[in-house]
Amino acid sequence: MNEINFLDLSLEEAITLLPQSEIKTKKITINKCKLLNKELNISKVKDLIYHFPYRFYDKREFKKINEASRFFNQFILLTGVFKKFYEENLGKKRVLKGVFADATGSIEITWFNHYDWVKDKIKTDIQYVLFGRVSYYKNYYIAHPEIKTLEKFLETEEYKHLHPIYSTTERLAKAGLNSDGIMNFIKIVLPKAIESIKEPYPENILKRANLISIHEALQNIHFPKTEKDHEKAIYRMKFSEAFDLQIFYAYQNAVKDKQETPYKFTKVGNFFNEFYKKNLPFELTKAQKKVLREIWDDLRSGRQMNRLLQGDVGSGKTIVALMSMLLALDNGYQACLMAPTELLAQQHFKTISSLLKGLPIEVDLLIGSTTAKKRKYLLNDLLEGKINILIGTHALIEEVVQFKNLGLVIIDEQHRFGVIQRAKLHLKSDYPPHVIVMTATPIPRTLTLTVYGDLRVSIIDELPPNRKPVKTTYIPSALRYQAWDLMRNEIKKGHQAYVVYPLIDENEKINLIALTEGYNAIITEFPPPKYSVAMIHGRMNSQERDEIMYDFSKGKIDILVATTVIEVGVDVPNASIMIIENAERFGLAQLHQLRGRVGRSSEQAYCMLIGGENISENAIHRLKVMVETTDGFKIAEEDYRLRGPGEIEGVRQSGERFFNIVDPINDQNLIEYTNKFAQEIIKNDPLLEKPENKLLHFIVEQFKIQGLSLSNVG
Ligand code: ADP
Ligand code: MG
Repeated sequence: MNEINFLDLSLEEAITLLPQSEIKTKKITINKCKLLNKELNISKVKDLIYHFPYRFYDKREFKKINEASRFFNQFILLTGVFKKFYEENLGKKRVLKGVFADATGSIEITWFNHYDWVKDKIKTDIQYVLFGRVSYYKNYYIAHPEIKTLEKFLETEEYKHLHPIYSTTERLAKAGLNSDGIMNFIKIVLPKAIESIKEPYPENILKRANLISIHEALQNIHFPKTEKDHEKAIYRMKFSEAFDLQIFYAYQNAVKDKQETPYKFTKVGNFFNEFYKKNLPFELTKAQKKVLREIWDDLRSGRQMNRLLQGDVGSGKTIVALMSMLLALDNGYQACLMAPTELLAQQHFKTISSLLKGLPIEVDLLIGSTTAKKRKYLLNDLLEGKINILIGTHALIEEVVQFKNLGLVIIDEQHRFGVIQRAKLHLKSDYPPHVIVMTATPIPRTLTLTVYGDLRVSIIDELPPNRKPVKTTYIPSALRYQAWDLMRNEIKKGHQAYVVYPLIDENEKINLIALTEGYNAIITEFPPPKYSVAMIHGRMNSQERDEIMYDFSKGKIDILVATTVIEVGVDVPNASIMIIENAERFGLAQLHQLRGRVGRSSEQAYCMLIGGENISENAIHRLKVMVETTDGFKIAEEDYRLRGPGEIEGVRQSGERFFNIVDPINDQNLIEYTNKFAQEIIKNDPLLEKPENKLLHFIVEQFKIQGLSLSNVG
């Protein structure tokens, strides 16, 4: 057997290769392996040894009992004997107490329940080792400590290293795999696993980055002798995660930069120029021009473009997308624009069709609800090149959609679209078309390096002129009438309104009831025919939704009662007020997106955040941020700060897991450092061909295979 493969063995297979006596004494069984897989998704040796402890107990030395007060609220290890046990009444309950003593003094040990086993098994005048947390009530005491005889404790050798604590589940714990059970399993597997790992980094990198070896790191991440050892191990593992991703991106980008692409756009032609002269409804902002220039430079470079277009809500990304597509058309290519929802695809279709009015350009729409008949001739026209611009949902790349000569792909509102999906585009043909990814979620730079490391970044950092910041107010639900008064006023001025209800899961019936009740309340307050009120949500079929959105955009509806289906991209500039019910239930990024639906013209717009009952402090803070600023970057930063790792929009929604232990927010410095490090290596050796970089080349190849296989690309 190839030694390296030990890591890739399933645990069931692996345990047959390990010392059977240990497997037996530690009670490791096939069933436990299966349960680990089911409960924690740990199926291979690799998964198990990468299940790192989340904290440690210190059982390395005994504390003296007369020092216990110094360790209030901390865990300590004591050794001594029980002098006596007695039961006491505590309110209605009976508790068991013991007096535990060493040479320096004694301390009370308390059991509040389930203590029959203590009365049965624990004797006075035998030397025990206790481990527990020091508490205080009238006196210092320890409740429910771990108890072992001194003999047994010495046998387990727990004092030799910090004692790791692993996350587990109730079912696993019941089956004998509590934290210590998992620790024991890892202890058995780790030596052979470490033996079969090869150091992936060349010596010079280990030295320059001041890293310990992978072997030492894996040993010490589980069983460090000191805190310092553990820190070094964590640093090494985090470095690996961050650096491998960065070197992968840098290498990929270098490879792409080396490749010539047939999509070399050489001219600005009639489509672009005519549009610019006749159809462009406003002057582009400086930022839009700058970004368009960056895109144009890419398009004509002879290299394939992969660009991230970031711009806050309302900054005018659509027009940039359209003009980029016109450049593709001018050079004889087709273009396509993909949106995350059908609603948005439809809206883009309408916006773009009307912007292109009078120009000889064929635009068409392909979405799930497109009829089979229409689909058939549409696909045919596409293949024959009769359609210039195709608009659709992200499903476009999944389907058997064939273009005659697709030159540019634009992906809108990226935060539901990931690296893996982008990779699919590259797999579609030998020469992938140019790609622009547009996102309205501003994210910190290190997060961009993580989630969009395969893209170059363009930022629209300016809103169209004469935009007034949306006036945002928070009101408790008792004062809802204030919001309604304001809404009445806006409608009188000829404007329109959104009223949004939280629907966490569009499939939840119960929430739909809340929405309907809200709708009824509004109808009562704003009765037809004086007011026209409509409701829209994700469970409607798309035709219905489409009709309502169309009527709303035409001003035929005054008040649109909606769920978050309107969150992204919807553009009806005449809407000037948004009321958000139960605003405390939304995340900051979501509130920002929602609010972005108003304030899309030069008129003053309003956002009223209505709070429900029992709002948490965290939620109040969120609402305060919304009231105080409309700056998307500030809001994004605050959002990351409040949510912590793992909850980050771009990362979570793309459905990919970039890191196991690196935290893209708290480890920003490390990510920056590894990015620079990787860039420098690639600058000196773009394709990692030099002998000293052979190992790195292996890493990026490995990464490519595993990264893609993770999400079943194919
Ligand atoms: P987003 O970046 O959120 O997708 P849109 O592209 O939908 O923004 O643009 C928001 C609104 O601003 C639209 O109504 C659009 O027509 C308008 N707009 C875009 N660019 C300009 C500009 N340079 N001047 C005036 N209005 C603009
Ligand atoms: Mg948009």
